[in-house]
This record gives sequence, structure tokens and C-alpha cells, in this order.
Amino acid sequence: MDVKVFTIPGLEEEMTAFHESYNIHHIVSALDETPSPLKSKGERVCRFCGLANDASKFQNISHLIPHQLGNNRLISDFECDECNAFFGKFENDLAYSLGMTRTIYKTKGKNKVPAFKSPNELITAKINRDFGFESTEIKRKDTTVPNFLINKETGQNSISYIKNSYTPVHVYKVLLKIALSLLPAEEVKNYQVPLGYLRRGNLEKEFSEFAKIFQYQMPLDHRLLAPTAFLFERRLPANRVPKHSFALYFENFIYTFPIPFYEPDIKQNIYNGEEMIIPLCPPILTDKPQGEIVYQRRLVDLSSNELLKGEKGFIQFNADPEILKNLVAFDPVTGKVSSRELNPDEIIGIHFVSPDSEIKFPPNNNSSLE
Ligand SMILES: [Zn+2]
Repeated sequence: MDVKVFTIPGLEEEMTAFHESYNIHHIVSALDETPSPLKSKGERVCRFCGLANDASKFQNISHLIPHQLGNNRLISDFECDECNAFFGKFENDLAYSLGMTRTIYKTKGKNKVPAFKSPNELITAKINRDFGFESTEIKRKDTTVPNFLINKETGQNSISYIKNSYTPVHVYKVLLKIALSLLPAEEVKNYQVPLGYLRRGNLEKEFSEFAKIFQYQMPLDHRLLAPTAFLFERRLPANRVPKHSFALYFENFIYTFPIPFYEPDIKQNIYNGEEMIIPLCPPILTDKPQGEIVYQRRLVDLSSNELLKGEKGFIQFNADPEILKNLVAFDPVTGKVSSRELNPDEIIGIHFVSPDSEIKFPPNNNSSLE
């Protein structure tokens, strides 16, 4: 598939280098339905453990991209119930690694937008409808902890919090599992090494270099409506790079990494011998960007098998400094707006609302607006 794509200004050379090695093989988006038809349950073969032809073990719905990332349309016919339950636990690690992202972006999981509680409930986030409109409410328990940073001069503000603990290698495995789910069926037999690694958990050493992936955080206006995954395929056998590469776009995050240990590549000895330079796809934009795009890119080491405790998460947001300077205090007990200037250190809650929301005072029940 050759598609005209753009990238962030400044990364064009990386895009060219990537494009010299890889084509887009295909793209799946959770906005689309699963390409039909799915195999009947009795004819299914599990891609991950090899279980075949046992309808009773293919009763649950399995998702190509985790349900927790807001995908309820793309489902697969090659994941048995046991593998589904096994990978489901890793998906919780992925969700924890995202901190309160899914609450802020209102990502609907199985039923509703998940609420977030940091350890000890120091910071909580949930959807609130108490004021005649829908907001994402972020509250803190203790105003002496400096986790709401409001800068009236610059208008640049942030909320910091502690994420719930997760195991990094589980996050890598669930991403790798999505990548392997995108492969055409005839290629699956060539990926026995990563498939074995996913289920059995040995080969940690062999995979430790590959469990370091690129993560981009794009500006909020570059978020996607639904998670989207890309499978890239090597252009020429002579290119000394892994056969397939992968990217997952979720909201304004992008994860990208190569799928390692393709059987013919192992036989060609590309994983032994001299170091390999693996190009990775920079962010794909469908429209030509206008002006600068401020983004973050980091190499995330997901190789650890140890529970990661106390990782910090941040929400950054800008507000007009003039508005911040003129904020007044509202007393939720008396329902009165006081003329006293708001002291940011006293803020116990922040509501994020869409710009067209109309705020009604006083609130229509006993809840408080902080
Ligand atoms: Zn299975």
C-alpha cells in the first residue's frame, strides 16, 4: 500500500529513511467493523497457543485492539478463551501505565469511562454530571501536596499524580500481541519465537533489547477518534531490517517498534552478527501540517519484569493568564461567590469541560464545585 503521508516538521528525513525500508502493509481502525466473515467457532485456530477446532474454547469475544482502549468493533477469530483471559491481565497493566489518560479522554471501555484513583486516593478523576453538563473532575485529597501547579503568569498549568503499579514487560507483551494479531494468517507460522515468548515468558533476555519502544505524545489536537494500528512490511528482502514493524495510535499517544525474530530472518542470521539499525516510523499525519507541532518522544524501556511502583503521570493544560488572574472563589457550603481572589493552593478540584458547556450556579444538587 503506497499512501501519501506527512509527518511532523523536522522528522521528514526519518520518514524518508523509514519509507526506504518499509511499506504500509495495512491499517486497522476501531472506527471500522471487523472485515467479515469471521470463521465459525468450530473452525477456529488460536494464533497464540495453537488450540484448534474446539468450539467450546472460543466462546468469548476477543478484540484485535484491547477493549480498554476504546475498541468495541474490531474483533478476531483466532484467540481462544484461555489466551483471551491470559492477555486480559496484561491489558490491565497497559491501562495502569496510561494513568488517568482514559478518564481525561473519556475512553469508553466495556461499559463506561473508567474512573481513576491514584494510590491512597490522593488524586481521583471521574466523569461528573452534577452541574448540568458533563465534566471530567479531578480532585485531590490533600492540598498540602503540591500536585496542582497553577501558574497565573504564564497560564501553563499541570496536575501531577502517581500511577497505579504495573509490570512494564506486560505492557510490551500486550502491544506485541496486537502487532502479531495484525499479521496475515500465512505469516503467523514464521513468528513462533515471539508467539512462544508471549505465552511462556522465557526468552526474556533475547527480547530485552526489543522491549524498548518509541512512544510519542502528540498535542491534544492531534488525538485520534479511535485507536488505530499500522502493520509495516519490509520493501526488499535485501534490507537488513526486521520483516515487519508496527505502530499503535491511541488518543494522542503513538507506540512504535519492530516485530522481531521472523523465522527466515533468523535463518539469514540478521539477529546475530553486526548491530542492526532499525528505522521506525515517525508520526503519520494525513494532512500537511501547518506550523510547528510540539510533541514529546521518548524511548520507553518496557523490558522489566518487576512491578513498577510510584511512576509519575502529568496532565498539562493551558489557560488564558488573564482569566486565571481574575478567578474568584466559590464557596460550596454557602453557594456564594466571594470577591476574594482565588488562591491556587486552596484548589481541591478541577473540572475539564468542553468549550460549549454552560455552567449553572448553584449546582442542582448537594455536590460542590471547587
Ligand atoms: Zn490460545
